[in-house]
Amino acid sequence: MILPGATLGMLGGGQLGRMFTTAAQTMGYKVVVLDPDTNSPAGIIADQHICAKYTDNDALNQLAALCDAVTTEFENIPATTLSYLEAKTIVHPSSKALASTQNRIVEKQFIASLGIPVAPFAAIHSIEDIDTLSDSFKFPAILKVANFGYDGKGQVVCETISDVRTAFESLNNAECVLEQRINLEREVSTVLARSQSGAITNFPVAENVHVNGILHSTTVPSNIPQQQAHAALQMADKIADGLSYVGTMAVEFFISSEGDIIANEIAPRPHNSGHFTLDACETSQFEQQVRMLCGLPSGNCELVTPVVMINLLGDVWGNSEPHWDTLLSQPENKLHLYGKKEARVGRKMGHFNVLASTTDQAMKIAQQSFEVLKAD
Ligand code: ATP
Ligand code: MG
Repeated sequence: MILPGATLGMLGGGQLGRMFTTAAQTMGYKVVVLDPDTNSPAGIIADQHICAKYTDNDALNQLAALCDAVTTEFENIPATTLSYLEAKTIVHPSSKALASTQNRIVEKQFIASLGIPVAPFAAIHSIEDIDTLSDSFKFPAILKVANFGYDGKGQVVCETISDVRTAFESLNNAECVLEQRINLEREVSTVLARSQSGAITNFPVAENVHVNGILHSTTVPSNIPQQQAHAALQMADKIADGLSYVGTMAVEFFISSEGDIIANEIAPRPHNSGHFTLDACETSQFEQQVRMLCGLPSGNCELVTPVVMINLLGDVWGNSEPHWDTLLSQPENKLHLYGKKEARVGRKMGHFNVLASTTDQAMKIAQQSFEVLKAD
């Protein structure tokens, strides 16, 4: 076990890295963050911030020398960065696990290889792949860039083959996956922690609502039948086992109008839909990340209270700060801000968790609080 007093490394300085840093420091660890941004949310609160690129070997040497173990908050860290560090210090998750989740084609093929349903898809490497697309491929579909997509960026809805050609060009002919659009009944996700010995603990299934491809709200407990929740948890565990994953990870699922459970994507890190755990579970997903990295046993994942999480995007800022006074006057609301200087439309600035005796009650308070929050 790596015990308090030790130093942990975090590749990536975003909000997920920041909440990991807070959890680790609370437990008595020191944290070094590597991120190229001088003002990164995690970098500004870390014990030390190495401000450098993820491919800077001098910086990686420095990180490895300072840290007893290193993890990440961002799936787009080059897998070669992790393998470089693996030769020098303890790294979880592994470069291999990370590599399996970085490219949507590799990721979907991997999930499908485990016998877990994914949306019907075709790999699009070039225009020829569009010309030779099988007649059985069903539209409407979504063309998604295979690498570096997040928050619905790099995605275009296509109604016809001709739309796919135009969309592929608009994405600069970058490698893509063309995915059948599923008739969504609901979206859910699961966050789990897997230890070095392969023991898995699951947080309860979360139900998510996306607006414009970005997560808006998470509700826990979800409204799905117990059987479906159980099936989703089993699929997520199978994926974690398949990756020999060590750490906190999440799987996003679609539930189709026919009731099928379809895996959407893997997040090799804590997940936005797991932020409810900060206030509503015995242990947060970030404490679990610390525990798994350090070889400590898992914390208790149990839900203590029904909860609704609402994301706060830059959209609610306007010309001034949002009306924090009204939000904070409501005792059920727990506010988390990420310390980002500039509020931009679509940028994740923070979130709030609403704790109440039922999810209906929490949702009512969440909606009321959110409506009056927007700055003038
Ligand atoms: P993030 O990393 O923030 O989860 P992303 O850019 O990786 O986002 P996806 O998870 O692929 O994007 O898609 C974002 C949202 O768009 C989904 O949660 C869902 O609401 C919708 N969506 C994506 N693919 C499909 C699909 N095949 N059928 C129906 N809806 C979809
Ligand atoms: Mg997603």
